[in-house]
Amino acid sequence: LFATLACTCVRAQTPTFSFLSDEQNEFVASEIQRLTLKQKAGQMTQVAVDLVFEGQTYVLTVPPVFSEEKLNHVIGEQEIGSILNVPSRSIPTPAEYREYIGKIQEKAMATTGVPVIYGQDAVHGANYVKGSTLYAQPLGVAASFNTELATELARITAYELKAASIPWNFSPAMDVGRHPAWPRTWESFGEDTYVNQQFGLAMLHGYQGDGISGKDNVVACLKHFTGYGAPASGRDRTPAYLPERQLREHYLPQFQAAIDSGAITIMINSGEINGVPVHTSKELLTDILRNEMGFEGLLVSDWQDVRYLYERHKVASNLKEAVRMAIGAGMDMSMTAVTTEFPDVVVELVQEGELSESRIDTSVARILAVKVALGLYEKNVWDPEEFPDFGGERFARKALQSAEEAIVLLKNDGLPLPIAADQRILVVGPTADNMRSLNGGWTYSWQGQEADRYLEDFHTIREAIQRQFPGRVTYASGASFDTLQDVTTAVSLARESDIIVLCVGELSYTEDPGNINSLVLPLAQRTLFDELHQVGKPIVLVMAAGRPRLMTGLANRSKAVLFAPYPGPRGGEAIASILSGRINPSGRLPLTYPRHTNALVQYDHKPTEARNGTYNPLFEFGYGLSYTDFVYSDLSVSSRVMNPNDTMEISVRVTNEGQRAGKHSVLLYTSDLVASVTPSVKRLRKFTKIHLEPGENQIVTFNLMPRDISFVGRDNRAITEPGTFRISIGELTAEFDYEPE
Ligand code: BGC
Repeated sequence: LFATLACTCVRAQTPTFSFLSDEQNEFVASEIQRLTLKQKAGQMTQVAVDLVFEGQTYVLTVPPVFSEEKLNHVIGEQEIGSILNVPSRSIPTPAEYREYIGKIQEKAMATTGVPVIYGQDAVHGANYVKGSTLYAQPLGVAASFNTELATELARITAYELKAASIPWNFSPAMDVGRHPAWPRTWESFGEDTYVNQQFGLAMLHGYQGDGISGKDNVVACLKHFTGYGAPASGRDRTPAYLPERQLREHYLPQFQAAIDSGAITIMINSGEINGVPVHTSKELLTDILRNEMGFEGLLVSDWQDVRYLYERHKVASNLKEAVRMAIGAGMDMSMTAVTTEFPDVVVELVQEGELSESRIDTSVARILAVKVALGLYEKNVWDPEEFPDFGGERFARKALQSAEEAIVLLKNDGLPLPIAADQRILVVGPTADNMRSLNGGWTYSWQGQEADRYLEDFHTIREAIQRQFPGRVTYASGASFDTLQDVTTAVSLARESDIIVLCVGELSYTEDPGNINSLVLPLAQRTLFDELHQVGKPIVLVMAAGRPRLMTGLANRSKAVLFAPYPGPRGGEAIASILSGRINPSGRLPLTYPRHTNALVQYDHKPTEARNGTYNPLFEFGYGLSYTDFVYSDLSVSSRVMNPNDTMEISVRVTNEGQRAGKHSVLLYTSDLVASVTPSVKRLRKFTKIHLEPGENQIVTFNLMPRDISFVGRDNRAITEPGTFRISIGELTAEFDYEPE
């Protein structure tokens, strides 16, 4: 009896999870009882495989060479509970993954009896699995303003990850990219919180399907909680300063919505906010994320971030202090990545009484809960044969669609596009013949530099244009990204052409290597433009980049401008199809395209930013042209007054008055005319995408509720204040009053 009582009493301390059944919760509690302290510390550790570091590091090579010795060390001796991988030397096929993950799982089951949770950054398809379907990067997906498409794309990723026995995806990134120079702008869904929320939810649903234990589903990891996209300098992992109101207005709602929709793993922001590294912020990670927002799941650190607390941030003087701080703040798992000491330090801290074992148990329970929810105890490797659609035609069509809808037509003056059938075309510029400028980072390697080795079957912009305009295309690079090259050849070819397609922009990058000192396009590319412009032929400017590199003088002197925010390996084909008119462009900007270096203000700015006409971006958030004309009429609002429990219906008729079929996103904004905290001039509240044949019209209806027009008030709580609100859809506006009873 005593034994039973003692047992019940200890078990009662283990947290239970609403996403598990009673039986599963009991199982987690019994596992906590069974595991040794060392094994629990191992569960809290995540190491990286296939990194070329040596010495005090883990190196598990991926196939074809699989090192039994390393496996024995990491899983057998250290009893590590999680692996992530960032392949750099060779990209495994699903069968190769199955083989080596199978060995990892076998070893883990034989050692601790707990399966390993294996994670990867599959941010635009299963980008580390050979032969998988890669699509547009998140910024491009956001530009589609098509959330159904986003869900379908995420489903493909989940399916292709599972084909490789990988059940955990470090995506979606719900960072709001508020600084356009930030080198991960393209990994976000742009500058708007609502857009990040809607696309984050869409992808979460695609990854997790109707349950993460499903064969074709994976568990998503929201990242990076929170404020990562707001570095004051625009450089990666540099300080952000976010007053609480700002934090609550822009950096929490998207995470809250995803938690409410079933997200059970989150990654912590590597940066610091208001002088506090987020990995040490008990306020953010426990008080807000757990206690207030109700997050029950697993909170994983970002890459080596516990170590960085003393190496970079200087808030801890050694690893031990750093580990105590991060676990004390609420972290459950450390992505120690390439170092080895973390689990030993955890054990020491418990033995020395610096951390309680029950605190460790709480984290381990969260980790095991996710493993149980995934069903990993029952099945942790999958046979690639069970996934016959892997890399197939059906998925390829979706990836192409993502590219087509990612591209934004920003200018078409005098309608040089589509390019007429008899024109001779010069294709020129550093992004014209380069897959990396279409794919961005996380493409077969962290910086995307391996893409060319694996994407031979796809077409660069040049190749795709040559295929669609056979016999009419010449090409010269003209310049590399920052050096002029065969500019005289380019100029003489321009003289013999009718139209110039000048492709400028960026290579692939992410994180530190993507930091820039200026958003202005490098001089070589601007000079190339000047030289070609002097020839006097119409220029179609293609900006292939992951952020809005400044192009004001170039865009002004071009006849047409396209923005291609990393549309993926089928981006070349999509761009060529838009130039030829096979595809009618439908992308819209998910961020503001600045005109000047120091005018980096978002669309939802405060009224004083727009004083004296000073708000004048090159292209506004939400801007994007089509080859047909969509006309709005009959904006109607179901009531002039909204009360607290009302749902207001807003409808508008959209008519395709042009000659071509096309897709079109309808964006609904509201403005709070007077408020107790200076209101944004407008906020996007709803959007949807439709397809209309020439002459066809459709009534689009949105439902608006009081919480949709709330803001974070003076007391830092969300409030919907009484007063007049303006709705705008295109040029049409309507007003209504909100009246609390
Ligand atoms: C990135 C994360 C990523 C992790 C693992 C970090 O450098 O910030 O987004 O999930 O690496 O690859």
